Amino acid sequence: MKIRYFDHAATTPVSENVLKAMLPYFTYEYGNASSLYTIGRQSKKAIEEARKKVARAIGAKQHEIYFTSCGSESDNLAIKGVAYSHKEKGNHIITSKIEHPAVLNTCETLQRQGFEVTYLDVDEKGFINIEQLINSIRPTTILISVMFANNEIGTIQPIEMIGNIAKQKGILFHTDSVQAVGNVKIDVNQLHIDLLSMSAHKFYGPKGIGALYVREGVEFERIQDGGHQERNKRAGTENVAEIVGLGEAIEEIYQNYETYNQKLVDLRDYYISEAQKRIPNTKLNGDKQKRLPGNANLSFPKINAQELLLGLDEKGICASAGSACSSGETSPSHVLTAIRLSPEVAEGTLRVTFGKDNTKEDVEYLVNSLEEVINKIRNK
Ligand SMILES: *Cc1c(COP(=O)(O)O)cnc(C)c1O
Repeated sequence: MKIRYFDHAATTPVSENVLKAMLPYFTYEYGNASSLYTIGRQSKKAIEEARKKVARAIGAKQHEIYFTSCGSESDNLAIKGVAYSHKEKGNHIITSKIEHPAVLNTCETLQRQGFEVTYLDVDEKGFINIEQLINSIRPTTILISVMFANNEIGTIQPIEMIGNIAKQKGILFHTDSVQAVGNVKIDVNQLHIDLLSMSAHKFYGPKGIGALYVREGVEFERIQDGGHQERNKRAGTENVAEIVGLGEAIEEIYQNYETYNQKLVDLRDYYISEAQKRIPNTKLNGDKQKRLPGNANLSFPKINAQELLLGLDEKGICASAGSACSSGETSPSHVLTAIRLSPEVAEGTLRVTFGKDNTKEDVEYLVNSLEEVINKIRNK
């Protein structure tokens, strides 16, 4: 059976060019980037080329990019790194209730270590409240960490406004941009972002490689001890092949940005309107405009999303009920709870995320299958 993949927020396939760029570093270009002989220097050069590509994509400088093992590690390094190095100044962090577990659980760990954390509410569409953000700032606030775009409902936060406030108040601003990189144009200076997390496997790069942007001059402590790699900020022999893959992937996605973005928007809006037309009482979660181009999060009342996913799987369709991390759990996700969906509506929520290989025909197949499976469940 043909697999139709609509779960690009969970992960994406590696693009062909990315794989091609990586292959030599799995085979004959195996030198350790810290070694002085030729194949070592070649690895080092490849890493710096990739760093340049990442920097260019977000308007940063090459030496402001640090490679990590994933988006989760980037979030940990950003938040713990800033917290530990600024604890003389203060112990207060502001974040939101709808962050990825990589941010939420990091903040909880810091709370156990004596830091104080404010979790901002969001409205029905998933936006934080700027007033509440301003009112939450204390003399001891050292960091604001608000995600760029939400992985479940796709809502894009007013990042520039948050950046401006942080800058005015002299507070550092970190944003988990794992969903945004590749899907949104980002300029860290225009948006006043001090730290930014990304992960290659969300934009057609390999799994297990991430990057953290840290503005020049911003102090942060390393959280993994060992060698002096990554300018002494992240120990461990560099994952040369995957770093090359990340660099290639980010360059490729932004080279074709306009076409890619328009394609996703078209597929998304077509899917949303068809689903709402053909399946009664379908509700769109998140904002209609300020959402990720490929994200459609719909609630189908009186449906159990797990049952729906199984029915769709039988038709070769891959989608998600809420976020990948919470699938298998029966309680509604923290994001759907935060936007005040009732547990009954949250239970019937399906996240579809489109990617570059999806077609209009895929969407038609998806809507047909959805209608069929939902009718079957509702008429049971
Ligand atoms: C996927 C994701 C992460 C985690 O990235 P990994 O590379 O899988 O660790 C963090 N934040 C958001 C918003 C994500 O979507």
